[in-house]
Amino acid sequence: MTDFRKPSDEKELVAMLDSIDARLEEIGARSSLAHFNRLTGTPHEDLEALNRESAAIMLNAEYRDTIESWRSRSLPPRLLRRLDLFHRAFRSARIDNNPGLFALANRIEEKIIRFQPELDGVKLSRSDLGKVLETEPDRARRERAYRANKALGELIEQDVLELFAYRNDLAKELGAATYVDLGLELADLKESELDTLFDQVRLATEDLWNDTLSDIARKLGISSPAPWDFSYYIHSVLPSPPSSKFPKSGIIPTFRKWLARCGGDLGKLPIEVIEQDIPYGGLCVPIRMGRDIRILTNPRDGLSWYNILFHEFGHGIHASLIDTSSHLVAGGDPSFFWEGIAGVFQWITDMPAFLQDEFGMTDREIADVVRQNRVRNILGYRNIAVACRLEWAIYRRTPDPRKYLEDLLRDTIGIEPPERPSWAGDTLYTTHPLYHQNYLLMDVMATQTIDAVRRSFGTYPAPGMFDFVVDHYVREGGWKPWRDKIAEATGSPLTAQALGHYLTDH
Ligand SMILES: [Zn+2]
Repeated sequence: MTDFRKPSDEKELVAMLDSIDARLEEIGARSSLAHFNRLTGTPHEDLEALNRESAAIMLNAEYRDTIESWRSRSLPPRLLRRLDLFHRAFRSARIDNNPGLFALANRIEEKIIRFQPELDGVKLSRSDLGKVLETEPDRARRERAYRANKALGELIEQDVLELFAYRNDLAKELGAATYVDLGLELADLKESELDTLFDQVRLATEDLWNDTLSDIARKLGISSPAPWDFSYYIHSVLPSPPSSKFPKSGIIPTFRKWLARCGGDLGKLPIEVIEQDIPYGGLCVPIRMGRDIRILTNPRDGLSWYNILFHEFGHGIHASLIDTSSHLVAGGDPSFFWEGIAGVFQWITDMPAFLQDEFGMTDREIADVVRQNRVRNILGYRNIAVACRLEWAIYRRTPDPRKYLEDLLRDTIGIEPPERPSWAGDTLYTTHPLYHQNYLLMDVMATQTIDAVRRSFGTYPAPGMFDFVVDHYVREGGWKPWRDKIAEATGSPLTAQALGHYLTDH
């Protein structure tokens, strides 16, 4: 910015922050629209050029220095909070907008996209391979499918290690010991907090998990389960109602009805649903917060599609009603917090009352659904703990990541792992570093909030729930730190107690 002038008082500082916010909001809206148009096959602005426009603001040293120097002054708390979130966003940009890192991650992503697994001499897509793992009764073929998928990890391991080292170097430039320390600081999370949650979930589900491992061994007639048995057990051994019982035409009307039962009115929200063949189940694209929110989806029949779309509608509600007076403050909550709000609505589709009212399911069928979800979740959370702890260890330069993973699998999943298992094919390590925990935190936050809703209104969902969620979590955006919001809404800090209860008791 050639016309930069150092603010000389609070009023000028606020004017500078307002101007940054306004420009970022404008670029953000154009980027969201370009992203949306790309997904729908419509001509769009160049995303890389838009990224450069935002980098020009976020990497501007004069802004950065000004924010840093004002942060240590005695100022009204609201302004200090705003400066704190600007500080965090500008720090993140030093990593996110680094051209060398971006190029390296891109190169790896291209290898990921080009990778085509081969099973018994036949090339398959990765989703076909997933289907084999879910449905193939021949165990030896399932093992070959599992290993075929892991070949990606072998292919990109050196590149991904290089990416980890690159991120560590950038973190060091910003004064952090490793990228883990920096990344968790920027996500407003503490490693000790996550470790506690992992252990809480593990303890709460220990008996159930051991029972599940024995049941897998018994049903499959094997001495102990291996990684290629889990998906098959969940999808082909555990009973579940047919997907035709959950017609896709019912999803939107059903959400409208259940949102009304929560005290919300979908017709009053600026949300549009567009059916389109996209590579995700569903995607909420806020073009302009509070004004223009679009949900893209390509639903099919099946309960999981109700689950996905209730989740996306949860994001839609969030993006519709957040205070947008400051763009960076509106985006100031950590990712998991956004997921947690979506989770409060998503969990409706897991409730026995919902399954009974909407689909006339019997107690037996409901018990099947609950059991299947539970096993999937418990395995999922254990996998998350493994993925996070391995990722942290690699950033902290553990000498032998494969050995480390072997030990984690033995201790956390309770199986005899494949020898020197490959790890680098977990694409989140490339595309979304330090992200796995958010899928656990989402359910921790959602179930804790659901418990609070039950305490306040007697049931979940309840007519007061919509306002409860919007008032406590959404409206203020990042003006209030997430820990305060959760403590005020639920009466305690984030804990996995409620999640443990849902996984074992109902
Ligand atoms: Zn989400």
